[in-house]
Amino acid sequence: MKPPAPKVLIVDDQPANLFALQQMLSKIKVEVIQASNGNDALSYALEHELALILLDVQMPEMDGYEVATLLRSNDDTSKIPIIFVTAAYKDDAHKILGYGSGAVDYLEKPIDDNILLSKMRVFIDLYQQKRELERTLDLMESTNTQLVLEISERKATEKALKEAKLVAESANYAKSAFLANMSHELRTPLNAILGYAQILQQEGALSDTQQQGVKTILRSGEYLLTLINDILDLAKVEAGQLELFPNSFNLERFFIELSDIFRIKTAKKGLEFRFESKNALPIEIHADEKRLRQVCMNLLSNAVKFTEQGEVRFTVEYQKPQLIIQVFDTGIGIPQEMHSKIFQPFVQTGANKYKQQGTGLGLAISRNLIDRMGGQIALETDIVQGSCFTFQVPVQETKTVSVSQTMDDVTSVIGVRRSDGTDTQIHLLVVDDVIENRAVLRGLLEPLGFIITEASNGTEAVACTNSQNFDAILMDLVMPEMDGLTATKKILNNSDNSERVIIAITASAFEEDRQTSIAAGCSDYVTKPFELSKLLQTLQKHLPITWDYADTSCKESEKTEITKLELEDNHKKILLSMIEHGSMHEIIKYLENLLDKNYSPTQVKTLLSLAKNFKLANIRRILEN
Ligand code: ADP
Repeated sequence: MKPPAPKVLIVDDQPANLFALQQMLSKIKVEVIQASNGNDALSYALEHELALILLDVQMPEMDGYEVATLLRSNDDTSKIPIIFVTAAYKDDAHKILGYGSGAVDYLEKPIDDNILLSKMRVFIDLYQQKRELERTLDLMESTNTQLVLEISERKATEKALKEAKLVAESANYAKSAFLANMSHELRTPLNAILGYAQILQQEGALSDTQQQGVKTILRSGEYLLTLINDILDLAKVEAGQLELFPNSFNLERFFIELSDIFRIKTAKKGLEFRFESKNALPIEIHADEKRLRQVCMNLLSNAVKFTEQGEVRFTVEYQKPQLIIQVFDTGIGIPQEMHSKIFQPFVQTGANKYKQQGTGLGLAISRNLIDRMGGQIALETDIVQGSCFTFQVPVQETKTVSVSQTMDDVTSVIGVRRSDGTDTQIHLLVVDDVIENRAVLRGLLEPLGFIITEASNGTEAVACTNSQNFDAILMDLVMPEMDGLTATKKILNNSDNSERVIIAITASAFEEDRQTSIAAGCSDYVTKPFELSKLLQTLQKHLPITWDYADTSCKESEKTEITKLELEDNHKKILLSMIEHGSMHEIIKYLENLLDKNYSPTQVKTLLSLAKNFKLANIRRILEN
């Protein structure tokens, strides 16, 4: 937009003079305002934004000097340049008076056109430059204000974000801490339930109904444990805290164990189960075994759950460094429109009867785990019937023999001895503030020949180690008075105890807590609820001990012996088909019948003992051999 023409006020009591000035000024681009006396001049000066005033000096009532003085005294008009128009100054005193009252210049009458116009141009130019400068300053000021506003807004947003982040972090922390505590609180009683159920299961004198009852307790307890773990996992995923803990493990055994579990589950539903390794697998790999198993189990469980007839196929292929695992089923499948959503938490499809069997968390957790392992998971889309999930994860092939591989099968252990042949019993100190937990450990270990001393907190444990020698200490971590980590450090700080085997016992589901116990000097850790086999494996790993097995046990050397004794093919077939259907009760009855008839007694006894211990995989191996 073009700026308006500058305004010039001409003040003279003589209309002829006003007219003459107006004529002269028409040659330049200005808007002329006329005033014929001082009063009008003052009010126009207040009304208009003037670039210049041409002010006659000799006027009646109020002369030019007075007008100028009044204009200077008002803030709104004080800066307007004034040129006096006067008859020739008689002396310097008049000039001084003129300049003193605020004139910037003067013109003598009669006015010369050229002089007037050139003076006008100078002042108008000055005025325009001043206006320009003012506009720029205004602009700068408003930009500046805007900037200041923006900066302060940005700062406020940043501050709000920081605060929100802090709140979120502390909420996350609080959630994790809450879950860790809750998990501990839930696991502690669960430990007593599962522990006593295991002790009861070892009792020979239980009736069938009692056995079934104990199994139900175990199954329900284990389900509860899975639920706790699932919810914890999801919370960790959400808090971005999910960590991997890789170890070296035997891959073949990993798949055999999984297949054994799912062969039974599929058989129970009348489904076929096929496991296939498409090419040679590494003997041992380095990966997070627990998490890899968790993903496989989730996919396989879903396959079984959502399939009513047909088969579940589990395949594995190794394309260095990727392990490619596929779970295929002939079940209800997943509608096309759900394919993109199926990995989101709490998404479930299908009938309500299926929804009630799950939480909709498994796939979300699995995808997250696979992401963390650097792999990928996908749902195959071009499947005619059923579903097919494929995932691949990079694994590291390792040559060393894993610790677990060197261990004996400890599940049919009936006693413990020192490997050096001496007959002093192995003495363990069990430290736990919860009496039931101590009782569970005593109940599991004493029958095997361990001597158990109990301490109910860290202080007592330290005192015990000062007065007695123990082969190993099983140390609970969370205890009042003195916790397990402090007690561990105190015990190990005593030079007599520096070599002590201390095994941390933790109900924490967080791997970090377990690693902290190792950092504090513990030799190892076991988790509550206790799994007898894991507990024994851990003890064997750190103590020079040998297990005694039941005469029906499965020590490798004996296994070979046993499998040499033949059972007729027809019995083998019947038993194998019973295994496929997972009916343990029938297998036991069948074997007891064979035993009554004194049929291959040694082998049948072995099989019977394995069946009573739910060792279906071992039975199958013996029969298939
Ligand atoms: P959950 O099985 O506990 O409900 P998941 O996250 O493991 O939770 O699975 C989410 C949903 O994906 C299931 O509820 C089901 O609708 C669908 N789904 C997963 N696997 C299969 C499958 N093999 N066949 C059909 N539907 C499946």
